Amino acid sequence: MVPEELISAAAEMIASAKSLVALTGAGVSAESGIPTFRGRDGLWRRYKPEELATPEAFERDPRLVWEWYKWRMEIVFKARPNPAHEALAELERLGVLKCIITQNVDGLHQRAGSKCVVELHGSLWRVRCTTCSYRSRVEEPPREIPPRCPICGGLLRPDVVWFGEPLPKAATEHAFRLAMECDVMLVVGTSGVVLPAGLLPVTAKQHGAKIVEVNVEESAITSIADVFIKAPAGISLPRIVEKVKAILQSG
Ligand code: NAD
Repeated sequence: MVPEELISAAAEMIASAKSLVALTGAGVSAESGIPTFRGRDGLWRRYKPEELATPEAFERDPRLVWEWYKWRMEIVFKARPNPAHEALAELERLGVLKCIITQNVDGLHQRAGSKCVVELHGSLWRVRCTTCSYRSRVEEPPREIPPRCPICGGLLRPDVVWFGEPLPKAATEHAFRLAMECDVMLVVGTSGVVLPAGLLPVTAKQHGAKIVEVNVEESAITSIADVFIKAPAGISLPRIVEKVKAILQSG
């Protein structure tokens, strides 16, 4: 159980922020039943994500890579946003949270109602052609794999950032601008080891921001956190948001 004083300290920092930005990772979706990369993924435990989420793996065996994405899309399709996603959406509605920067590709922040979401690593719900410039949104997992481009017949790939690929330029610039301008960064459920996303809290800190971190275990960010809440996000974020509301109402 997280002591009430820690929840209050986080809530006070958040309620008094002039520019609050959240950075989220796979941990924020763990309580929706979506495995993190550092968890054990049953059927797929023989493969490391670093071996499947690469351009080389796709070139070698597009069907295998698509099997894995189809499996992940099916999990996300059936999943629902959890209280952590909902708490962040509520903070935005309250006018307290400016934007979420996420490393997640599951779209659950948007499904919870968040409007400003910077997707650093792309989305499971977009595909693009490996041959022509075709791009499209997708509503559900593909029936046939590997899916083909309706324009040129080329191979479609998930519009996500694979290991060894550069991040989308506009999203990255937006994220670093938000990190430089915020005065509080709320870091939720990220190991902080995937770069350059892991540098965002460091950038925020260097520009004078306070860091509030929520994670079930210590991460690469914890040493620079001003408040560290060691607890599941789905339990601690709603508690923090309730406190923020109480502070806003009393002030
Ligand atoms: P990660 O898998 O490296 O780390 C997950 C972190 O979440 C860990 O630090 C863990 O301690 C923490 N965590 C687990 N359960 C939690 C909970 N209930 N509450 C709070 N924290 C919890 O994830 P990452 O840091 O996001 O980076 C890995 C890469 O994995 C990213 O590039 C991301 O795109 C990708 N990924 C995305 C999804 C998704 O979209 N849901 C899922 C798996 C991986």
